[in-house]
Amino acid sequence: MSGVVIVTGGSRGVGAEVCALAAADGFDVVVNYASDGEAAEAVAERVRAQGRQALTVRADVSSEEDVTAMFAAAASLGPLTGLVNNAGVVGSAARLDEHDAETVRRVMDVNVTGVFLCLRAAVRRMSSRYGGDGGSIVNITSVAARLGAPGEWVHYAASKAAVETMTFGLAKEVAAEGVRVNAVSPGLVDTDFHATAGVPDRVARLGPSLPMGRAATPGEVAEAVVWLLSPRASYTSGAILPVAGAR
Ligand code: NAP
Repeated sequence: MSGVVIVTGGSRGVGAEVCALAAADGFDVVVNYASDGEAAEAVAERVRAQGRQALTVRADVSSEEDVTAMFAAAASLGPLTGLVNNAGVVGSAARLDEHDAETVRRVMDVNVTGVFLCLRAAVRRMSSRYGGDGGSIVNITSVAARLGAPGEWVHYAASKAAVETMTFGLAKEVAAEGVRVNAVSPGLVDTDFHATAGVPDRVARLGPSLPMGRAATPGEVAEAVVWLLSPRASYTSGAILPVAGAR
C-alpha cells in the first residue's frame, strides 16, 4: 500500500487525472477543490471504483485556516505520505502593463502562498524531524517559468518560477528527513484552465505550432506526477521534470 495523498485542485483537469492514477497506484486520495464539489465527488467515485478510500475537501489553498482543516481531515484516511500541489490560477490574459494589482495578488496568493502553506503542513507530518515516516511531494509548475509567458501572463510565469525555487530549496532542507520534493513542469495541457482565463480557443490555436503538433492530455502529465510520488522515484528529489513535448 502507498498511503494517503492530498491532491490540491483535484476536481478537474490535471488534478483529477492525478487522483485517478494515484488510486490505481495504491494511494488513498484526498480530492481538494475550491468550488466545484460535484466534480470533486465524481473524481472521488473514480478513486473508490479502484478499491481505494477517497475524501473530498473544500479548501482555498491560499487560506491558512482552510489548509489546516484540510490536513486535519486527511488524517482520517491514515498517515499522510504524499502531497500534490496542483491547484493554480492565472487570472486573465494581457500584457503586464495592462494587468491590475488585484489579479496579480490573487495569483501569488493561490500559486505561491498556497503552495507554501501546503508544503509546510506536509513537512510537519512527513518529516522525521516531526516523528513522521517520510513522504513525497510533487509541485505542478509550468514551462511559463522559463518562457516568461509574454503577452499573456508574465505574473503567472513568475509565480511558477517561485514554486520551482521552493521545490529545490525545500528538497535540500528535508532530504535527510525522508521527504522528497519534486516538480512537474507541463507545457500546454488541454483543460478548462484556458477557458477560465478567457481564452477558450488557446489549445486549438497554439497546439499545432508546438514541437509535437498538439497539447498534452491531463493524463500524460499525471503519469509523471504519480511516478515522482511513488517509491520508484526513490533517489529523485529537487528535480523539475518538464512534461512539455520538447517545447
Ligand atoms: P483547471 O482545469 O483550471 O483546474 C484547476 C483546479 O484547481 C480545479 O480543481 C479548481 O477547483 C482548483 N482550484 C482553483 N483555485 C483553487 C484554490 N484557491 N484552492 C484550491 N483549489 C483551487 O487547471 P489545470 O489546467 O488542470 O491546471 C492544474 C495545474 O497545472 C495548475 O497549477 C496550472 O497552473 C498548471 N499548468 C496548467 C497548464 C495548462 O495548459 N492547462 C500548463 C502548465 C501548468 P474547482 O473545480 O473547485 O474550481
